[in-house]
Amino acid sequence: MNDRPPVSLILASRNAHKIVELRRMVPWIDWQALPEALGDPPETGDTFVHNALQKARYVFEKTGSWALADDSGLEVDALGGRPGVHSKRFSVEAKDETNNFLLLQKMRGVRDRRARFRCVIAVVGPGGEGFVEAKCEGQIGSGPRGFNGFGYDPLFFPFRTPGKSMGQLDAAAKDANSHRGRAVRLLPGLLATLGLSATDGG
Ligand code: IMP
Repeated sequence: MNDRPPVSLILASRNAHKIVELRRMVPWIDWQALPEALGDPPETGDTFVHNALQKARYVFEKTGSWALADDSGLEVDALGGRPGVHSKRFSVEAKDETNNFLLLQKMRGVRDRRARFRCVIAVVGPGGEGFVEAKCEGQIGSGPRGFNGFGYDPLFFPFRTPGKSMGQLDAAAKDANSHRGRAVRLLPGLLATLGLSATDGG
């Protein structure tokens, strides 16, 4: 620890699961909630990088404060990389259960089940902007396993955790292996290049 004030960032997300994961992995950031009045930050791009930067820029432009956005999703090789940036709204209902059901339906009889979670974290503020990105390689199972995590976690089996879906990992194991955990570990370097140094953890 040193005596510098903590880095303060607005988290440009309303996804409760992402918020929980980021807060627990990066306790040395003074996280500020996304103001209600801002609505949902736009994400209209066709890449994770575009969307993460777009969300963080939106919050910075509206508030003048440093903002951090996470854009992430699942890429399935046999589906040509889908759902990709459309992971949240893969099914019409845009719910985890219906997204997972649709994915299993599309993967019925498919032998090549390779997939990856990808995560881009963008930081935008008065001193500039930048992003980090990371992925977690694995494969899609034949049915849901486990109740932890969120989204596609019960269907995704990371290669690094043989026989266990992401939904069967406890928080520490998910953070150690996930796309988001890997991106978060690059965050201190990004903050340093932006002139925002961590008091701890970086
Ligand atoms: P975003 O909010 O546009 O970045 O969409 C994220 C979507 O990707 C989520 O709604 C999930 O469907 C999926 N996703 C992202 N990260 C994870 C994860 O850690 N586990 C499971 N699904 C995830």
